[in-house]
Amino acid sequence: MLSTKPFLESAERTDLRAMVRSLLTQHLPTERALECDRHGSFDRATWNSLGQAGLLGIGAPEDRGGSGGTVGDSVAVTEEIARVLPSLAVDYVLGGMFVRLLTEDGAGPTRRLLPDLASGRMIGSFALSEPSAGTDLLSLRTTAREDDGGWLLNGSKLWISLATEADVIFTLARTDPVDPARKSWGLSIIAVPTDQPGVTVRRVHLAGMRAAITSEVFLDGARASKDSLVGARGRAMATLGRTLDIERVLAAGVSLGIASGALDLQLEYLQHRQAFGRTLGSMQALQHAAADSITELTAARALLSMAVGAIERGDPARDLTGMAKLNAAEATARIVDRGMRAMGAMGLAEESAMQMYFRDARLQLFSPVSNEMVRNLLGEAMGLARSY
Ligand SMILES: Cc1cc2nc3c(=O)[nH]c(=O)nc-3n(C[C@H](O)[C@H](O)[C@H](O)COP(=O)(O)OP(=O)(O)OC[C@H]3O[C@@H](n4cnc5c(N)ncnc54)[C@H](O)[C@@H]3O)c2cc1C
Repeated sequence: MLSTKPFLESAERTDLRAMVRSLLTQHLPTERALECDRHGSFDRATWNSLGQAGLLGIGAPEDRGGSGGTVGDSVAVTEEIARVLPSLAVDYVLGGMFVRLLTEDGAGPTRRLLPDLASGRMIGSFALSEPSAGTDLLSLRTTAREDDGGWLLNGSKLWISLATEADVIFTLARTDPVDPARKSWGLSIIAVPTDQPGVTVRRVHLAGMRAAITSEVFLDGARASKDSLVGARGRAMATLGRTLDIERVLAAGVSLGIASGALDLQLEYLQHRQAFGRTLGSMQALQHAAADSITELTAARALLSMAVGAIERGDPARDLTGMAKLNAAEATARIVDRGMRAMGAMGLAEESAMQMYFRDARLQLFSPVSNEMVRNLLGEAMGLARSY
């Protein structure tokens, strides 16, 4: 029977998905996931269990404290988490990003943090965005100055997930002056410990992705030791660029988790809800809407799998990963909209996951990279004038 489950996956990948589903059914049944969403709370026990199962360390080699695995494995796990609680999947993606950064040969002494982050014993945040720097990240204002005591950081970061829980915040800051000839140079990533007076975290309350625990971070004379630099000084954008393709396919995984969760819920509702003496699912208009959604979901999976394949083979992947991220987010926005329409008032009810999917799908359109910026880049890749 046609279903929202991906087909043509390897037996190992299917087993991995089954393991994640079973872990989440045990730790985060729907009522509990909706409670986390409603209260915007972080479920530490679930996070620990993801760590104990080796899922937080996917993408980092075992000899460096990770659990091995491929990009496709990370995408599958991300998707399964997003089906249950999309905002937890956002945290999962961000966690996977700095675990990957720490595996790089040039990561430096900060690699010592990897085993604790990959096991869940330690929690990290990734602080790039600022009040004045979102899509236009290079305009960030946070500075890090080196002195005898190590690094001294000043500035503020906005929309930083999991920051209230974090032991360490991987912070993008300007360490060297702007060079007009090389605008992307001069920024560095520094691992800043949070247990100090120079770091203050204030929770931000959002209408979507509530359990990602998104916060504002103030760095007011914050300190980090000399050996807290992740990667080469001044070359953070190059370091981040190496993981950009992975971030995009993981973001697409979050979208498809939301889409498949929403479509499953919609189909279940269509089977049971009666109107005019028959089920909603027997009505052609509602069947057509569901058929459009499964088609878009399957097409988005196909594009995503092309993008993941390109990364795993080491082929140039930038355009494909952009398309996969863009397409998955746009398809998901349409799929959750159809889901909401099919469920009427029940879609808006707090006890239905549909309203959570509907709200959470909004983030996917502009984060971690906005769909408009992806379109700009694709335009340029097609030989058109740079538009930004
Ligand atoms: C729940 C949540 C969790 C997050 N977690 C983190 C985190 O952990 N760490 C972190 O660093 N950040 C995080 N973010 C921030 C996220 O990455 C940013 O929201 C994203 O980069 C977009 O930036 P912005 O919101 O400032 O939008 P802006 O950059 O202000 O953009 C606003 C709109 O303008 C459009 N736009 C901007 N420039 C152009 C252009 N040149 N051409 C066409 N259109 C353009 C954009 O596409 C967008 O639609 C999070 C955000 C949320 C909501």
